[in-house]
Amino acid sequence: MSDNRRPGVPDGLDSLIMKIAVCVKQVPEATGQRKIDPSSKRLDRSGEGALNQYDVNAVEEALRIKEANGDQGEVVLISLGPESALDAMRKGLAMGADRAVLVSDAAAAGSDLVATSYALAQALARESADLILFGQQSNDSDGALLWAAVADRLKLPVISQAAELTIAGGKARAKRQTEFGYDVVEATLPAVVAVSDAINEPRYPSLKGIMGAKKKPQDILSLADIGAETGRAGEAGSRTEVLTLNAPPSRGSSQKIEDDGSAAEQILAFLVERKLV
Ligand SMILES: Cc1cc2nc3c(=O)[nH]c(=O)nc-3n(C[C@H](O)[C@H](O)[C@H](O)COP(=O)(O)OP(=O)(O)OC[C@H]3O[C@@H](n4cnc5c(N)ncnc54)[C@H](O)[C@@H]3O)c2cc1C
Repeated sequence: MSDNRRPGVPDGLDSLIMKIAVCVKQVPEATGQRKIDPSSKRLDRSGEGALNQYDVNAVEEALRIKEANGDQGEVVLISLGPESALDAMRKGLAMGADRAVLVSDAAAAGSDLVATSYALAQALARESADLILFGQQSNDSDGALLWAAVADRLKLPVISQAAELTIAGGKARAKRQTEFGYDVVEATLPAVVAVSDAINEPRYPSLKGIMGAKKKPQDILSLADIGAETGRAGEAGSRTEVLTLNAPPSRGSSQKIEDDGSAAEQILAFLVERKLV
């Protein structure tokens, strides 16, 4: 942890200037049709991309922590993906993050969880952040695993499903959402925290933020730049293989109801016929 103690910071707030890294992913636009490339059996990521919706909560939380610390410190966005991922990262910059680091390398294409976590851990080790935030999952692969794999590689404590997060006294304390209620857990910094989407209501980027985002530092790094071995990233470093992919089952026949004033009755009759009410 950076030991830049600031005088005059009230107790309860963190007394350290924090560097917060937020891992973010570009995912295909939610409104678009998802396509699989049959030859590579990978998601076709060539269309419009967007910042993974769950990562927006992580960016928001990082900004709130920084703001609670008198706007001191730094929020850096980290991603592994194609160069186009910078477009999605700019949303985080527009919200207020300070800079973006994108690891983009042809040799990283086809990275599964093992290879992705390796490359990201290499990039994160280079940043030595006090706190590493993730979203709860990415809404294209929905693995909800990457933060655990990265924490393991960095040998850092990990807290998942953080619905509330407090940073104080060199510790991260989180209220975790569980099936049966809440757990309160604490970890010494540096730590990895995956936030739940219930943690906050993310801000919308302002016009000033959007304009300013373009000028913020945005580095594109190769695997070599982060000291990663190419044989441990991409297909070469992956341990899983997608064998088959199938389109989702069709929803069956549908019935369109035009509302001529009797739509409610028609819907009720439809549900009664199927013994659903
Ligand atoms: C054989 C195989 C090949 C694959 N090839 C590719 C490929 O070519 N390109 C590709 O994009 N994916 C590829 N994937 C998917 C990729 O491995 C997963 O996206 C990755 O392991 C993360 O898992 P997830 O998406 O389920 O993330 P989750 O574990 O659900 O994500 C949790 C959080 O991790 C962070 N995160 C996730 N991914 C990234 C990232 N890339 N950079 C920074 N932060 C991130 C976000 O904060 C996210 O909210 C492949 C998977 C397999 C099995």
